[in-house]
Amino acid sequence: AVDPHLHATRTTCPYCGVGCGVLATPDGNGGAAIAGDPAHPANLGRLCSKGSALGETLSLDERLLHPMMRSDDGEMAQVAWGDALDHVAEGFQKVVAEHGPSAVAFYLSGQLLTEDYYVANKLMKGFLGSANVDTNSRLCMASSVAGHKRAFGADTVPGCYEDLDQADLLVLVGSNAAWCHPVLYQRMLANKQTRGARIVVIDPRRTDTVGDDDLFLGLKPGTDTALFSGLFAYLADNAALDRSYIDEHTSGFDDALVRARTIAGSVVATAKATGLDEIDVATFFQMFKATPRVVTLYSQGVNQSAQGTDKVNAILNCHLATGRIGKPGASPFSLTGQPNAMGGREVGGLANQLAAHMGFTPVDIDRVRRFWKAPHIATHEGLKAVQMFEAIGRGEIRVLWVMGTNPAVSLPDADAVRAALSKLDLFVVSENVRSNDTVNAGAHVLLPALAWGEKSGTVTNSERRVSRQRSFLRAPGEARPDWWALSEVAKRLGYGASFAYTSAAEIFREHAALSAFENNGNRDFDIGGLMKVSDEAFDTMAPVQWPVREGTTKPQARFFADGQFYANDRRARFIAPEAPELRTQVSIERPLRLNTGRVRDQWHTMTRTGLSPRLGQHIPEPFVDIHPDDAAQFGIVDGGHARLTTDYGECVLRVIVSERQQRGMLFAPIHWNDETAGFARVGGLVAPITDPFSGQPENKATPVAIVPA
Ligand code: SF4
Repeated sequence: AVDPHLHATRTTCPYCGVGCGVLATPDGNGGAAIAGDPAHPANLGRLCSKGSALGETLSLDERLLHPMMRSDDGEMAQVAWGDALDHVAEGFQKVVAEHGPSAVAFYLSGQLLTEDYYVANKLMKGFLGSANVDTNSRLCMASSVAGHKRAFGADTVPGCYEDLDQADLLVLVGSNAAWCHPVLYQRMLANKQTRGARIVVIDPRRTDTVGDDDLFLGLKPGTDTALFSGLFAYLADNAALDRSYIDEHTSGFDDALVRARTIAGSVVATAKATGLDEIDVATFFQMFKATPRVVTLYSQGVNQSAQGTDKVNAILNCHLATGRIGKPGASPFSLTGQPNAMGGREVGGLANQLAAHMGFTPVDIDRVRRFWKAPHIATHEGLKAVQMFEAIGRGEIRVLWVMGTNPAVSLPDADAVRAALSKLDLFVVSENVRSNDTVNAGAHVLLPALAWGEKSGTVTNSERRVSRQRSFLRAPGEARPDWWALSEVAKRLGYGASFAYTSAAEIFREHAALSAFENNGNRDFDIGGLMKVSDEAFDTMAPVQWPVREGTTKPQARFFADGQFYANDRRARFIAPEAPELRTQVSIERPLRLNTGRVRDQWHTMTRTGLSPRLGQHIPEPFVDIHPDDAAQFGIVDGGHARLTTDYGECVLRVIVSERQQRGMLFAPIHWNDETAGFARVGGLVAPITDPFSGQPENKATPVAIVPA
């Protein structure tokens, strides 16, 4: 038998934000044996079902191997890279000249490597002059970014994975970690078994994350802010505050507490607002109060909401008020969904960030302009994902380059997104596959991108740990790195001197240098200590948590225990959230609410996990969960089919009648699409309603009707 540790390449799993280290041993026939990397601090050798099956997803059967362009007769035809790049550059140049820089956009992905993200962000924001760079990470954790910035003055994750081993209380809010962050969930279970840590799960659904002896709070959808406002008031009323931390390191406490009391000032009021049992609420509050080492982990159930940022801040308020932040086993913790959502945030790959955790202040704009020697730096925020596609639909954005994501499936109101894409003057897609819903929505140019196992660069996981993704397979056909294609277009636009990159290492060094440029400890994101890394050292670079400041060798796993934040006055802010309220109403026509999410063994729109028959066995087809009483009311039968209709679209799904589902709520997974399952594109049903601070869509509560199909 082949020892997978021999001749193995150390790389990182391309799926979730846990960022597990992987040992990949090529078999010489295009495949590879896969094992967990025992030396990687994120997983210590463990892998979940998706990571373990990576070797089954390396087929080239559906790969896009050559550049393609749509000819006059509407057919896609293979072309030379040079011709495709000329066409892309001419399209961008023409539209910017005729309609201005706000008429062009990039839509990127948390699947991209940091180096690809960096070059895209630099080209659009520094040279084309638009901040219309957004990403599918907008659908994932934008509310956490906005919440962090409001509270901390920077988008900083204060804790680290070791906190999950060291906490005595783990509170999971809107997170089905057992399915969506399985290796971290295993760590939490190990803590429970070895140290007796208690777990509280707060979620409208009773998911597989809820163990028999855990406290489960099945709250009404959208009421998280009420629960954490109630907790905030309880902590204040029961002498559980860290007064010196509040006084010395924060501001806004009194106003936030007044608001919390208005929203849910007692256990009774909290129970009423959330639909929870009073004893359960009191038990949770007492557990939180009595446990100094508490980590509150939150994910899409918090973020994917029209009040997601307020939910995040309601959680952060409780940790700031008790000084439980950045200490071993005590912190709030945002679980990111994607493998490199964090790297995207670091380079500024969101329309409301500029670069390297800098924003659109005059000082930051000037600093980044000088660093990049940028001729046309963007001076204001661009359009966030949902608004970007609405602007495409109105004809205001006329050129779009999509990289590594499938917005015709994943964005809310996905049918409108598909219709909008067909209106573009120039629609460029960088992809691994020849065909998906987005490609088929009328792409004019397809550029073959490198896939996992072929590309090389860095990613950052949920605990700020930068890891190498390394190539262990030859690039097939004419597939090339995304940073290369972007740089080639930049050269054709006349910016060759600023985009003369020849390797990912070179880009990484520039990215690191920008993070440290005029930083002086005033910005959280600083990897200046890596800006002189040689090509050889980049090749062998071990996973490292940021910050990595130049001249310091002392690792820093956590932030903020010292009370030094990143607002100008160095204080954290308590935020007074709005009262929780869903922005849509159910009605006689749409009597239920649709909650969307993931299943254990699939990833995003299944372009990779769909290649593994083993992964397909867990849940082989799209489905909808419904409570037995709702099923009876609407004549829905377990195992039958049902048609779901919202104001935006409809689909047909297999029915699972389940007590785990709350009355009044349906749950359907996001993965299947027209390519994989015909009439099951759930994104087409979701309302395009967004959070006012983060722009993140509400994917959890669209009013819906269900009938037998
Ligand atoms: Fe990959 Fe996430 Fe599973 Fe780790 S937990 S193996 S990163 S999918």
